[in-house]
This record gives sequence, structure tokens and C-alpha cells, in this order.
Amino acid sequence: MNNKAAAFGCCLSDIRNKNMNKLIPDTQISVILDRLETMHPEAACALDFGTRFQLLSAVMLSAQTTDVSVNKVTPQLFAKYPTPEAMAEADPSDVEQIIKTIGLYKNKSKNIVALSRMLVSDYGGEVPGNYDDLVKLPGVGRKTANVVLAEGFGEARIAVDTHVFRVSNRIGLTNGKDPLEVEKGLMDRLPEEQWSRAHHLLIFHGRKVCHARKPDCANCLLASMCLYNKNGGNN
Ligand code: SF4
Repeated sequence: MNNKAAAFGCCLSDIRNKNMNKLIPDTQISVILDRLETMHPEAACALDFGTRFQLLSAVMLSAQTTDVSVNKVTPQLFAKYPTPEAMAEADPSDVEQIIKTIGLYKNKSKNIVALSRMLVSDYGGEVPGNYDDLVKLPGVGRKTANVVLAEGFGEARIAVDTHVFRVSNRIGLTNGKDPLEVEKGLMDRLPEEQWSRAHHLLIFHGRKVCHARKPDCANCLLASMCLYNKNGGNN
């Protein structure tokens, strides 16, 4: 068990052994990552931001909505409220007007103002660089914290969104019943130095090829290894 796995307080190998028949062999993992890289060399964070505060805000705003729709509202939002200090003074109803085209905009407006106030009052206007402090901020959960640590602080992290969850389980990299199990499974099986890159590659693969309803297996370089494809759409 590695150090990060130990932080979860359970033995990852137990989960892995239990699900061994639903996992691809370790020997195929580097091939999978290489082929994902071949298919998606452009894979990267798709959100637009200029500072850690703006990264945190954009990731928080992207919950249950697309990065494209977030990128449409953040230029105006960040022009008007570029810093935690400025956003802390904002009227949430004004933020609502700016971000009203994205899902859950009312809650997100309250949260972005509240988290800015907390950044100013508790963290000197800086985004904290550790997981425990990040998830104390209003509207910030595990996935958002992991993306901020990876993109904003260069930490090795795997944030599991709907694409990472679906694609990892289909391929057989993992067999997790929820995002946390998939995160643990990926951390157990992938080299730590490739966690952040794998996160982007799996997201892009989910967006562009391995669609939720109709995966394009005929044009996927992983088809010969992917358990979902080999099992006729079941795994
Ligand atoms: S073979 Fe099909 S199910 Fe498997 S990763 Fe590729 S597109 Fe997804």
C-alpha cells in the first residue's frame, strides 16, 4: 500500500483482489495510457482561468455542467470580480445574473461569494494548497479539491468525474461502484507520476470517443483490450 492509499484507511489490494476478474492485466496498463495519448494528445484542463482563485471558482462552477458553458460566463465574472477580495464584496444576486446560463447557478452564486469571504477571513486571500482546507470551503468537494491541487499546485491527483468513472470501469482499469472506489483503484494501478495526465486523457476519451450512451468502439484504439468491448457491452 502506498502513502496516498494509506490515507484512505483501507487496503486497496483487498478491493483489487475481489474484483480481479473484472480488471485488465497490469501488463496492459502502459499500452492503454500510450494509446490514449495517441488518441488525445491535446488532453488538458479545458477551463479558462488566470489565477488559483479563478481556477477554484471555475472548477466549482463546472459541477454538473460543461466546461464550455463555464468558459462562456467566467470572462465577465472574473473581469468584474477578479480576486477573492472583490468576490467577497459581491452581491450574490449580481453573480447570479452573470452565471445564470449554467446549472445550479443560484447555489453556485452563494457558494462562490461565501468561499471568497472564507478565503479572505481564514486564508489571507490565498487558495489553500492542501486537501483538508480546500474541502472546508463552501461548494468544494473531493473532485474540485483534487483538480485544484493538480492544476493549481502541481500535485499528483486523480479527480474522478462522470467521464473518468465511466471510462475507467468500462476499460477494466477499475471496477469501482462509486467515484471514490474508482479514484482508489486508479491510484493503486497507475504510476503516481501519470495520475494527473491519466485524469485528462480519460476525460477526453469519455467526451470524444467513449460516450455514455453510444461508445464509438469501432474507432477506439483500446478496443482489443477493453473489457466492455470484449464482453459485448457488459462489464
Ligand atoms: S472500446 Fe468502446 S467501451 Fe472500450 S474504451 Fe473504447 S469506446 Fe469505450
